[in-house]
Amino acid sequence: MALITHIDADAFFAAVEQAADPRLRGRPVAVGGNRRGIVASASYEARRYGIYTPMPTARARQLCPHLVLLPGDFEKYEQFSRWMFSYVYDFTPTVEICSIDEGYGDLTGARHPPLEIAATIRDAIRQALKITVSEGVGTSKLVSQIASKLRKPAAFEYVPPGHEVSFLNPLPNRWLPGVGPQTAARLNAAGLACIRQIAATPTDLLGLLVGRAAPQLHQFAQGVDPRPVVPRNAPAQSYSQQETFAQDQTDEPRLRAVLRRMADHLFARARAEGHSVRTLTVRIRYNDMAEDQAAESLVEPTDLETDVYSRLDRLLDRAWRRRVSLRLVALKLSHVYTGGYGAELPLDRPAQQRDARRRLADVIDQLRTQYGHTVLRRGHDFLLAATPTASEPVSQ
Ligand SMILES: [Mg+2]
Repeated sequence: MALITHIDADAFFAAVEQAADPRLRGRPVAVGGNRRGIVASASYEARRYGIYTPMPTARARQLCPHLVLLPGDFEKYEQFSRWMFSYVYDFTPTVEICSIDEGYGDLTGARHPPLEIAATIRDAIRQALKITVSEGVGTSKLVSQIASKLRKPAAFEYVPPGHEVSFLNPLPNRWLPGVGPQTAARLNAAGLACIRQIAATPTDLLGLLVGRAAPQLHQFAQGVDPRPVVPRNAPAQSYSQQETFAQDQTDEPRLRAVLRRMADHLFARARAEGHSVRTLTVRIRYNDMAEDQAAESLVEPTDLETDVYSRLDRLLDRAWRRRVSLRLVALKLSHVYTGGYGAELPLDRPAQQRDARRRLADVIDQLRTQYGHTVLRRGHDFLLAATPTASEPVSQ
């Protein structure tokens, strides 16, 4: 029998700002991207004024004129995240970091009683980092994750073995993974507002409402979730692609185009998984097999390739230190963020332009999924098509 803890920091970005600057404690604080004009995180003091994420920062200021609005400091959040998870690693090597402020720890077979461990982790984070987490402990990822989020902030919920079904039964359907607002509305309309009702519905009938997700949803509703905790580091999570050339390359415009095309592929994958990224790394291999690389971190995570095209040009310049022809170029996107950066409300003009580019990217993703990458070509695709090489990009 597995025993898993799920840890979810409360109002993470805002809480880190309050931890780092005692003058901000007890005050309404929001972290909002300057570029986007959207609240990315709001302290619980700010939430009392009706401020939530994602909300336009202008609206947040109306609701709370003395709101402390800060630009994001993602270096700081990543540092706090590493510290936070280090307390989980103290008790188990099996830690799956899902996002900057959420993850699972497998406490099965731990040397101390699991509930004692869970309490120690919570207390250590609160005392050392001055932020709070909510924690859920249960026999599966499903149950522990829901338990941690049920009564935030600074909450702890334990679902003992054998109590999974009675714990899930009365909860609204939106608590099940994969049930977003649209699916929830469809399930509600069919009289399946609670998890109990989904559990009692035959899978083929559920299929009429949610399609291929029905078997998984039915299992979850019955408290069945065999997914193991997979040891994984957030920094290890990345999107990368490399291309080895059949002939060594010196053509800079062509190499820039190769990198842009890689960005197109990698960002499409990131978007499909609901991720944004903050760090770009360009790596090159010379014809004598020596390598160089250059990396850059953005101020804020993004999920749009069009945000990084010109940065890729500069990174290639920086990485290509020796005037020697290249055998390989590679692009890696790392510091992956989940959620909060895909959904944004267009407010000012830059935000509207971003929103338009974001919607365009979604349309391009759909077209390319259906008809292949070449259904729509950007300038660099034409350049590459005009001078084809025998090489094929390899994704990781
Ligand atoms: Mg959180």
